[in-house]
Amino acid sequence: MARGAKRKVKTKEKTQKPPRNKNKGPMWTIEGDKVVRARKSCPKCGPGNFLADHYDRMHCGKCGYTLFKRSGKVVPAKRKVKASNN
Ligand SMILES: [Zn+2]
Repeated sequence: MARGAKRKVKTKEKTQKPPRNKNKGPMWTIEGDKVVRARKSCPKCGPGNFLADHYDRMHCGKCGYTLFKRSGKVVPAKRKVKASNN
């Protein structure tokens, strides 16, 4: 660009997306005197930490634990675990 030449200010028109509904509903409901859980709880983090339900897997956002849904079966993901020298 030549010296002194004015730069054109680019204006980007923003397209507005419809807001996504992030609220997936309660993870549990109380029926009578029992708690009915809508999601599985994480085996690593314990009760109260629910797994996110995706189309092909269930995932814990806290520790990263993943269960894969394969042909009806629920299989835990194989992860490389670093050997600790204790
Ligand atoms: Zn977890």
